[in-house]
Amino acid sequence: MSPAASPPWFDGARGEVKAALAGNRLAHGLLIHEDPGAGGLELARWIAQTVNCREPARAPCGECQQCRWIAADQHPDVTLLAPEGESTQILIQSVRDLSADLALTAHGQGYKIAIIAPAEAMNHFAANALLKTLEEPPARTLVLLVTSQPSRLLPTLRSRCSRLRLVGPSRATAASYLEAARGAGPWAEALAATGAGPFALLEADPAAIAQLHRDTMTTLRDIGSGNLQPPAVAERWAKGELPIRLACLESWVTERILESGSIRDVTHLSGQGIPPNICRLFELSDAVRDMRKLSHTSINKTMAVEALLWRWARQ
Ligand SMILES: [Zn+2]
Repeated sequence: MSPAASPPWFDGARGEVKAALAGNRLAHGLLIHEDPGAGGLELARWIAQTVNCREPARAPCGECQQCRWIAADQHPDVTLLAPEGESTQILIQSVRDLSADLALTAHGQGYKIAIIAPAEAMNHFAANALLKTLEEPPARTLVLLVTSQPSRLLPTLRSRCSRLRLVGPSRATAASYLEAARGAGPWAEALAATGAGPFALLEADPAAIAQLHRDTMTTLRDIGSGNLQPPAVAERWAKGELPIRLACLESWVTERILESGSIRDVTHLSGQGIPPNICRLFELSDAVRDMRKLSHTSINKTMAVEALLWRWARQ
């Protein structure tokens, strides 16, 4: 990562890791709890570089072979485990292979490191297989779990790891970071439209997102006013860029809910006396979130989008 694009919101977590290393108390298992899109995987690579860098005095130097291999995910002692291909899960065999590899001596003089991201992608069996490695970690090994949803991990897995919190940046900081990393563009608009963290947009085209956001909002307004019917829109949405449209929709609904101040009211009223329009916003929010989860599967997207837009038309 170029110095110009170094994320300033990493500073706190980096300081914690450096202090733990200096005190020789870096845990074998580290759970990096990131805000979505805050860059937990990049922080994990930074930790791997820091412990394996050939220039300890200024680790990670970013220039030695160790640092460069890790940045390119090509280090023989650093394994990145993530869902493969179309799968959304990390399976038991992958974790078994990883554990067997961790038990071997490192190729270099540094640590053997496993980075699992997102950690909640491990299914139940895979997570259980990892437990044993965390209970009896081989010397000079490090397991880094990256997740934005620690509650979805096995409690036994969580309890065997030290927690490292990575809080995401403000939208302005995120936009500055993306501009430094990728060049000028409507980053603030793209971040606001999708509600995403900066690392989720590192490869994105901000102008295309901003355009898609405007088109999505216009369409929704036309459906709301009855000028457009859901079936006329569903097929077009289902065919292209559906994840971005759904992100725009979820971000919009979330902001309306926050604007209404209803989060506090709902907590206090236990569901009673909530204005019906707020209830409908919550229902819509749930429906969009479900749809975002399903949009990676083989569901009939046109029908699902149409159902969602009818729900919108009635809200
Ligand atoms: Zn280095």
